[in-house]
Amino acid sequence: MTQQHAISCADIYAARARITGGIRHTPVVDSPSLTEHLGVRVRLKLEHLQHTGSFKLRGASNAIACLGDEQKRCGVVGVSTGNHGRGLAAAARAAGVRAIVCMSELVPQNKIDGIRAHGAEVRIVGRSQDEAQSEVDRLVREEAMIELPPFDDPNVIAGQGTLGLEILEDAPDLETVVVQVSGGGLMSGVACAIKTIKPEARVIGVCMERGAGMHASLEAGRPVVVEELPTLADSLGGGIGANNRYTFPMARDLMDESILVSEAEIAAGVHHAYWQERQIVEGSGAVGIAAVLAGKVRADGSTVVLISGGNIAMDLHKRIIDGEVPEV
Ligand SMILES: *Cc1c(COP(=O)(O)O)cnc(C)c1O
Repeated sequence: MTQQHAISCADIYAARARITGGIRHTPVVDSPSLTEHLGVRVRLKLEHLQHTGSFKLRGASNAIACLGDEQKRCGVVGVSTGNHGRGLAAAARAAGVRAIVCMSELVPQNKIDGIRAHGAEVRIVGRSQDEAQSEVDRLVREEAMIELPPFDDPNVIAGQGTLGLEILEDAPDLETVVVQVSGGGLMSGVACAIKTIKPEARVIGVCMERGAGMHASLEAGRPVVVEELPTLADSLGGGIGANNRYTFPMARDLMDESILVSEAEIAAGVHHAYWQERQIVEGSGAVGIAAVLAGKVRADGSTVVLISGGNIAMDLHKRIIDGEVPEV
């Protein structure tokens, strides 16, 4: 299975050994309300409680730990919808490495502020991830900085996979895992860990309807570019890249099912997370809960639903928990 892929489960164990000091092993907790709803035991992996508010710190920390001293002196640069930038900024600062994060105008202000607070420089370029990427390419070309991509990179995938190891350790009886999918670094890493250690478990991917790049690519049988649209799940924006190398084949081979959720369903997920689970979760973090609430996840054995991030603007969060489905 792993032979033709970017990483194997051994790479995930190696990543964990590298990053363990800087990463929080986040809790897995029972959700009585979702258990009642689905009719099988449902637990939540609370990764929005990770330092920096999302799992992206795992991949960024591993990728920076894998750099040589010469590369570290050059500094790192990456494109981001917000959370990768935050993880990259924090990981770079911890390693004493300069970082620049390039983002599109679609990125919410709270995410920009979060990245600056972790000590990285932010550049806003264009209206899509692709346009922001052109600034990354320029910095690599003209200033010899080291690119640290948000998902399509073996060291990033291995770092995200450490989350899968934790889920298996804390819920060894799981039969279904529900994971967010955007570029697919998270899915690739988590699915690699799960399918290696427990091949009979089902791995389900969830994305928003508004700009589901991996879903469209899996249907087409090759990486395709989808239009990037404003969505409550802003951290899932950006597609998988036309030149995708690693995450498309991994998602294609390891993911059992792909589910899409609407904006109203995402809002319902954030709303539920707050009122029933007492967790403040961003739209992207709540798409798994949204899929369960919408009846889109088949009840098939003990289920773990990942909450991947919590970096939501609090004024937007307040409107959602008050029952609104905000247009973004
Ligand atoms: C980045 C991100 C995702 C998706 O991760 P990919 O590796 O791009 O698929 C999901 N949830 C949150 C909160 C994120 O920041």
